[in-house]
Amino acid sequence: MALMTAQEYIESLRKLNTRVYMFGEKIENWVDHPMIRPSINCVAMTYALAQDPQYADLMTVKSSLTGHTINRFTHLHQSTEDLMNKVKMQRLLGQKTASCFQRCVGMDAFNSVFSTTFEIDEKYGTHYHENFKKFLTYVQDNDLTVDGAMTDPKGDRSKAPHDQADPDMYVHVVERRPDGIVVCGAKCHQTGSINSHWHIFMPTISMGEADKDWAVSFACPTDAEGMYMIYGRQSCDTRKLEEDASIDVGNAKFGGQEALVVLDHVFIPNEYIFLNGEYEFAGMIVERFAGYHRQSYGGCKVGVGDTLIGAAALAAEYNGVEKASAVKDKLIEMTHLNETLFCCGIACSAQGFKTKAGNYQIDLLLANVCKQNVTRFPYEIVRLAEDIAGGLMVTMPSQKDFNSDTVVGRNGETIGDICNKFFVAREGVSTENRQRIMRFIENLCLGAAAVGYRTESMHGAGSPQAQRIMIARQGNIQGKKQLAKDIAGIV
Ligand code: SF4
Ligand code: FE
Repeated sequence: MALMTAQEYIESLRKLNTRVYMFGEKIENWVDHPMIRPSINCVAMTYALAQDPQYADLMTVKSSLTGHTINRFTHLHQSTEDLMNKVKMQRLLGQKTASCFQRCVGMDAFNSVFSTTFEIDEKYGTHYHENFKKFLTYVQDNDLTVDGAMTDPKGDRSKAPHDQADPDMYVHVVERRPDGIVVCGAKCHQTGSINSHWHIFMPTISMGEADKDWAVSFACPTDAEGMYMIYGRQSCDTRKLEEDASIDVGNAKFGGQEALVVLDHVFIPNEYIFLNGEYEFAGMIVERFAGYHRQSYGGCKVGVGDTLIGAAALAAEYNGVEKASAVKDKLIEMTHLNETLFCCGIACSAQGFKTKAGNYQIDLLLANVCKQNVTRFPYEIVRLAEDIAGGLMVTMPSQKDFNSDTVVGRNGETIGDICNKFFVAREGVSTENRQRIMRFIENLCLGAAAVGYRTESMHGAGSPQAQRIMIARQGNIQGKKQLAKDIAGIV
């Protein structure tokens, strides 16, 4: 089958019976819901760019399974060049959407589950790898969006899954049948869940023998019986429901989405199971998925950073201060920080290696360093953007005020006249353009898109401490001690 167009992707979502709840109610037409649609447009961009000949090399690739041309978001990386192209593709998408475009979680799940299932089968003679290859071939041939779901609610963090007062704190098997399993539980703050065709569920921590029933990985359609989502709020999200507020929204076209995904006795047929009780492999999936997703942040967040740097430069230009050396220096600093993140994304890719299954894995230490930097640098980039933009980005009256013809002045001036008079930009720049860029910066720094740029930079792909644990494990302090001993003459 050919690659889907953006429109075909959007239409394909309408055919699903996905159950979505928001503000305490079921949303029937969630595809056209003004709070959800921008996140669908964002994923649609992964389809649109794949149709554009100028991005063909980055967005499409030959499948290692079928030889067909597929979207890179469904690809198994075959080389370090593939790994680097993945990061470049994510930067491009970030530049085009200024948001989280969500489809990466599935790509990262494909690559980690592919290599892990190979190693489980090698040890136990199971058929998970074949199951997975069949599933991925179907996904590639139909150009589907698949969500990678990892983060369980976790309940009492000091306790293992089997020790929790409520066993649903981690996704688990409640019934084993000859033809499959029945699962219960949930995944929290799940990116891109509602607008995916399928989900791959994976464990979220390393597990012991007592956690066997929680050591489970499988694919399931997004509208599977027993599965539903409760949509996550974002800062300033209801601006999207207001009339005449497209400028106030800041980025009216695109956005991310997160949801609580609930599995209430969902049946999973055997052919879609990729891990079922082999608890010692839970940690391998987690480590590999987290590694890939930490690499991803060296692409997507850099692309979004590009738009924020551009917006800050425009704000300075509109205010007539773009030549001030202090402003120039801040833009240099923002660029330096942003490109440092890109260096990390490229470096962990360039140092990648082939797994036993044949696909390529990133360098784990460098990917964790990449993400650790992402927990810091976007915050500094945001600080500098706010510094350049000025307070107006959070104090400006609404778009309705700028458009209002209510008379307030003694000479018949309207509210709109007054707003346009006092918020005027430099000559040659419309007040509306100044409004637009201020709201765009607000959106990225502390509005709806801040979910994807700020807080997700901190907690997405694992919180900073999770990377520090990996850095400690991979950092080889013993080897470094030996280097010092050798030179210092210590035996
Ligand atoms: Fe992709 Fe970045 Fe969103 Fe993760 S946070 S899904 S890598 S855009
Ligand atoms: Fe993320």
